[in-house]
Amino acid sequence: MEFNTKVIHGGQQHDPSTGAVMPPIYQTSTYAQSSPGKHKGYEYSRTANPTRTALEKALASIENGSFGLAFGSGLAAIDAVAKLLKPGDEVISTNDLYGGTYRLFTKIFEVFGIKFHFIGMDNADNIAKYVNKNTKMIWVETPTNPMLNIIDIEAVANIAKLNKLLLVVDNTFATPYLQLPLDLGADIVMHSATKYLGGHSDVVMGALIVKNKDLSDKLYFIQNASGAICGPMDSFLVLRGIKTLHLRMQRHCENGKAVAHYLASHPKIDKVYWPGFESHPNHEIAKKQMKDFGGMLSFTIFGNNYDKAIKVIENLKIFTLAESLGGVESLSGHPASMTHASIPKEEREKTGVIDSLIRLSVGIESEKDLLEDLKNALQLI
Ligand SMILES: *Cc1c(COP(=O)(O)O)cnc(C)c1O
Repeated sequence: MEFNTKVIHGGQQHDPSTGAVMPPIYQTSTYAQSSPGKHKGYEYSRTANPTRTALEKALASIENGSFGLAFGSGLAAIDAVAKLLKPGDEVISTNDLYGGTYRLFTKIFEVFGIKFHFIGMDNADNIAKYVNKNTKMIWVETPTNPMLNIIDIEAVANIAKLNKLLLVVDNTFATPYLQLPLDLGADIVMHSATKYLGGHSDVVMGALIVKNKDLSDKLYFIQNASGAICGPMDSFLVLRGIKTLHLRMQRHCENGKAVAHYLASHPKIDKVYWPGFESHPNHEIAKKQMKDFGGMLSFTIFGNNYDKAIKVIENLKIFTLAESLGGVESLSGHPASMTHASIPKEEREKTGVIDSLIRLSVGIESEKDLLEDLKNALQLI
């Protein structure tokens, strides 16, 4: 089955009791048993719920995995992965990690005795020198936020295999439409389904997808034992979102490309970070592992003036200033004062998060309207 069919039918069946084409929202916590332990596969909705099961099967299908697990948020999914570790274990992670992942690792799991190395992975060879006998896991996010760096998943997977380490890839930005980490050698794919998979900015959810049965058993145990599951209504919404993922991603990519080229040619814009440009330092890797370049991009304004950046953001009409990304509507963000405000100025500037950096999640509106919105806002500075 090809991807465009999988997003609609992968892992799905019509509801066995009524033939309903979409799985009903099984808004129930428990299930009748005819005799103790005798039931129809469901006993309690933390352990399993039919609407969540339908979603988990769809997730496994679209990522070319065998098992999917859905959680109450992206961070709940990351939390479950980190619980595979024990005190003394070490993790090698990308240095420009999603802020919430960094906070979870350093403020919660470091306290429990797990050690994290945050390093640049542009050059995968850089990883080997951090591997020692305690190393258990490599955590990769690509493309990264907000600088849109690209990491070579296959090259990192080779190092992981050589050293028998688990490789986890946060595939939130790319989605399986653009890249399939499990096919490139990753062990676990993680998603904030809040973003592109849900796609409509109406739900917070996380997901994990794996191929290996042992690994999936361990994660299912943690999912049930720790209990950070998502409800049936949210499962239904993400399942519905996935059915148009291919159409939305195609338009996100088209609009992203148009916006990137428009900004690159604008006299007031300094740098545009978008992996589709040949001048992007990781363009060749992006071309190799991604089908297209996505709808996320960042740019800076000549002179690097904080107030000018804020003025542009305030005057955008279609791009809404908001946290999050990946929905049908275009969003803008100012990393220096929002997502990266807690990082000292000197530190964030080293990675490129300067005062005039603006991040865009380009939505699926009309390209003409999006370009005009940017033109109008930029005219005011
Ligand atoms: C949003 C996000 C997360 C966290 O997911 P939540 O659903 O907000 O908990 C993790 N990684 C990336 C790349 C994200 O964008």
